[in-house]
Amino acid sequence: MAGHTNYQQVRSEVDRVCRDCGRDPSSVVLVAVSKTVGADKVGVALGEGALDFGENRPDDLVAKHEAYPQARWHFIGNVQSRRLRDIVPVAHLVHSVYKVEHLPKIDAVARDCGKDCAILLEVNVSGEESKGGAPVEQAGELLEVASGLEHVQVRGLMTMAPRGDAAIARACFDDLHALLASLNRQFAARLDVPLSELSMGMSEDWREAIAAGATMVRIGRAVFSQSFA
Ligand SMILES: *Cc1c(COP(=O)(O)O)cnc(C)c1O
Repeated sequence: MAGHTNYQQVRSEVDRVCRDCGRDPSSVVLVAVSKTVGADKVGVALGEGALDFGENRPDDLVAKHEAYPQARWHFIGNVQSRRLRDIVPVAHLVHSVYKVEHLPKIDAVARDCGKDCAILLEVNVSGEESKGGAPVEQAGELLEVASGLEHVQVRGLMTMAPRGDAAIARACFDDLHALLASLNRQFAARLDVPLSELSMGMSEDWREAIAAGATMVRIGRAVFSQSFA
């Protein structure tokens, strides 16, 4: 028995928080981060209405995509050049691109599989050294390079906030939102479509992220752990 997940509970809470902030619930995608659970739980969550799933290891992304190709698979982990041939063909969206050198490689793999690869640029807004992501000052350069590539589509930005302080997390999310607006102004002439996605917020800080304009929240433990309060 695979049991159940908390997907529906979390989705209704997300909807309620959206309404409380005057936002349309359909403007926020709940990415159920399934990295700590097996494919059986993914199947359960799919049955409960989940559609978007996040994985941080290429092998798990590939295996779970193979088990459930009808789901949308988001790659949220560390990007390595040698794994792009695994990631790009199956990823609905790669959230965690922050090295300039990866952009032409993603473009080449996408071209080879006859698709465009949708990505987000991961930005380390908090400046915490332990976190991935480009420094804020490099976001423009990344976008500049990506906007010249035919098979790479930058949809927006992603960040991770420091843990443990809601006010700091909120400030971090507000900063990412402001950066998105600033890049859209700076690149207005070069982007076919403005950047629109803000992937921010996890189990402990997704409420702050939605208040700050998140369009995607990446929630793992609150969806899949029976003990998460
Ligand atoms: C694991 C992970 C999440 C989900 O974290 P939870 O705290 O379990 O909600 C979100 N984003 C990234 C990049 C992750 O690695």
